[in-house]
Amino acid sequence: MVIFLGEKYYICEECRFKYKDKELAQKCEKWCKKHKSCNLNITKYAIS
Ligand SMILES: [Zn+2]
Repeated sequence: MVIFLGEKYYICEECRFKYKDKELAQKCEKWCKKHKSCNLNITKYAIS
């Protein structure tokens, strides 16, 4: 999912973390779906 809040963000549809980087958002979503939890190495790049 892509949203705009002044800037463009990509959201992991599983955990709802926001990323500026599409790759990261997709990585996060894959991880979340597979593991049903978040990967700190990915979510540390999320924007609050
Ligand atoms: Zn996620």
